[in-house]
Amino acid sequence: QAKSLGRNAYSFFTKEMNIAMIRRFEIEEQMHGALERNEFEVYYQPQFDVKTNKAIGAEALLRWHSAALGNITPDEFIPIAEHTGLIVVIGQYVVKQALNFLNQWQTSEGEQYTIAVNLSPRQFRDKNLIPFIKESLDEANIGAGSLELEITEGVLMTGQSYIADALQALQKLGVKLSMDDFGTGYSSLSYLRQYDFDVLKIDRSFINGITQNKEDRDLVKASIAIAHNLGLDVVAEGVEITEQLTILKELNCDYVQGYYFSKPMPAAHFIDFSSHYKEINEA
Ligand code: C2E
Ligand code: MG
Ligand code: MG
Ligand code: MG
Repeated sequence: QAKSLGRNAYSFFTKEMNIAMIRRFEIEEQMHGALERNEFEVYYQPQFDVKTNKAIGAEALLRWHSAALGNITPDEFIPIAEHTGLIVVIGQYVVKQALNFLNQWQTSEGEQYTIAVNLSPRQFRDKNLIPFIKESLDEANIGAGSLELEITEGVLMTGQSYIADALQALQKLGVKLSMDDFGTGYSSLSYLRQYDFDVLKIDRSFINGITQNKEDRDLVKASIAIAHNLGLDVVAEGVEITEQLTILKELNCDYVQGYYFSKPMPAAHFIDFSSHYKEINEA
């Protein structure tokens, strides 16, 4: 009996696992060559200054339109790109695109903006990361201070010395460092003390709750106070409704980003309508 139960359990899991494994395998297979087939596209989501209502920059967010598999979300393909190491070349593509976009946006509006790009752990193991960033900035003729690199604590968790070295080298270049998804991990606070970040991004799971939930509001309030004490600017992620914006203003948040202002959009659309994204439009 135990044997047949065991076999059933075994076949049940293999079926579930097979589906997940096949999907993973297909994604991995299609990812090779996706850059060459031009299937990746970088979208941009504006960020606004709460005090002036003006746009201050945008975050670059990668999209994959796979000819074979359809659209695949970054939450699904980034971990696989990370695992295979393909994130290194894909990430370089994102940096190039983002700097090019920044040029166009600044020219189109005659203003200075910043562009934020997400970096995952594997990219820090690339010896070429620092020279690549420097060359890309030079090539695009963009000052290092206009590039912000967003890092989650997953990058810092390894405690490897090359991470600290890379962060320091990036800072020496003049690039800004941003701690992404703040509040979702266990030791974010100690990392804030240990490394010299410029920007703190409060995770949208907290912003989501600030209108109904006193605990979330208190946590956001405390995070903003701590960040300001350490000399960091604060971005609230995932602002979807006007009530959240009102509370964030009261709590002294510096910058906001979210569907309430705009979803991430393709570069061409963003540039065509860039005058619409110059200021917060309270609809
Ligand atoms: P993230 O860096 O925390 O990016 C914010 C995510 O929240 C984005 O999801 C964005 O589209 C979404 N978002 C923005 N405003 C709102 C809102 O008001 N409501 C809701 N519900 N969502 C909002 P997305 O684009 O699916 O990206 C997911 C994650 O994938 C990113 O989280 C980031 O960790 C990763 N990712 C995206 N692009 C890249 C990339 O080029 N390189 C790397 N390494 N990771 C990337
Ligand atoms: Mg981010
Ligand atoms: Mg985030
Ligand atoms: Mg995230």
